[in-house]
Amino acid sequence: MPFENENTYLRMSEAGKEAEFHRLYEESLKEIEAYFNKEYPNIIDGDVIESKKIKDISPIDGKEIATFQLASDSSVDKAVDMLYKSYKAWYSLGYMKRALIFLKAADMLSEQKFKFAAILTYENGKNRYEAIGDVDEAIDFMRYYAMNLIENQGFIRFTGKAYRNEESISIMKPYGVFGVISPFNFFSIGVGMSSAPLVTGNAVILKPSSDIPLSLYLWVRLMHEAGVPKNVLAFVSGSGGLVGRHIVENKKVAGIVFTGSRDVGLDIQRKSIDNGPKVVITEMGGKDAIIVSNKADMDKAVEGVVRAAFGFAGQKCSACSLLYVHKDIYDEFMKRLKARTEAIKPDDPRKKDTFLNPIINKEAYDKFIKLKPEFNKGKILTGGHELNKPGFYVEPTIVTDLPKDAYIARNEIFLPVLSVFKCNSIEEAVDDINSMDYGLTGGIFTEDPKEIQYYFDNIEVGVIYANRKSGGSTGSMVGSQPFVGWKLSGVSGKGTGSFYYLQQFLREQSQTIAH
Ligand code: GLU
Repeated sequence: MPFENENTYLRMSEAGKEAEFHRLYEESLKEIEAYFNKEYPNIIDGDVIESKKIKDISPIDGKEIATFQLASDSSVDKAVDMLYKSYKAWYSLGYMKRALIFLKAADMLSEQKFKFAAILTYENGKNRYEAIGDVDEAIDFMRYYAMNLIENQGFIRFTGKAYRNEESISIMKPYGVFGVISPFNFFSIGVGMSSAPLVTGNAVILKPSSDIPLSLYLWVRLMHEAGVPKNVLAFVSGSGGLVGRHIVENKKVAGIVFTGSRDVGLDIQRKSIDNGPKVVITEMGGKDAIIVSNKADMDKAVEGVVRAAFGFAGQKCSACSLLYVHKDIYDEFMKRLKARTEAIKPDDPRKKDTFLNPIINKEAYDKFIKLKPEFNKGKILTGGHELNKPGFYVEPTIVTDLPKDAYIARNEIFLPVLSVFKCNSIEEAVDDINSMDYGLTGGIFTEDPKEIQYYFDNIEVGVIYANRKSGGSTGSMVGSQPFVGWKLSGVSGKGTGSFYYLQQFLREQSQTIAH
């Protein structure tokens, strides 16, 4: 299956197509203004207006772009009741028809990719390349899961005859209603986490992050237009603490899919025992590290680290926020890393050349300011300041000479802040990384195959890369690089965009007829 992202870039590399890419994106930036300054309903079969509202704020300038509803407890319960009654008919449609609806919807999203990308620029501040990449990934998730279901023939197996007069099959059936609680940093994560339960015949109540409701609201509308019945896909907006919590506490919700912080993820796990049992599929962040060996190609390593640490302002679960540099090359490497980082200026993501976008919201901006005393526990090599202008802009920041247990070196902070340690060997760096209870992504830069093998054999994280100049520890591709957290970064041990992912949304039934 070709990647949607390849289609976009192939188009760009053909003569004259790059200009077309920019033209389409820039046109979309204007067109989508028609979506702004409006109020959007919750979708629970029909449109539902609530008495309380939330604001969709753009990180570009801090201004409100749209108003959404704060779903009440009774709306959530009503939605879950409806979904619970409807999912069996959706399942009974058969895997092929459900998968075909998804393939059609993916094509529809592909047709509108520039519109969605432009909305993402406004909603979560992505520059045009990151924004298009995010929509492409969403399309890939939809196609991949649909194809996975088709290739596995809906996971039905003839299991043979236990006795001569019996026929048996094993059939994988949906659980019922899944609550999807999605993060701000990737539209594609919300799409992927909703697509897997839906395509397998479950019903879904989607609660997007309050920072990006518009893009996922429009996706839900698109899914309904493509043929997903309204009574199996509901959209409710509002905060995680209120609406998300109420979804988790509803006993008719059979499963929760969550990507976000560790604290919330663990809280969902606990609540799901008291209000379940529920299937809980969580991805709970990382403290992702890159190791630069004394045998690394320095140009490759500098570029890979910068992209991993500061791409989308460090707001990826896969972002590199911890760096180990071999002592023999430390001074030279850090000189180069500093120079490359200082060439990056945070700016308006609508501009063609912007690499570093604003961070998501005022809360993140205030967090950066609050962390300054923590930066000062080491030496600030570069950055460390916020920009005093509308929107939420901060400098890419590198801190060295920190104590090993420094807060910023041991916790996911989701900002463009990189903590650096000098190390004596690859072994020492690997041991240090393995001592943490995070285990999501990681990378190594070395030209020595033995060091790569050592790293692959010993590192305890789910997604690893060697010598990835284009993204260091980031940028997994659906199907090729399953995105899976180990330890407290994940729990389920099956990656999104992986061959095994769908099976988590199904429960086996052994059926036998005796004659
Ligand atoms: N899949 C994305 C990547 O590889 C990260 C997703 C996340 O932030 O959770 O960069």
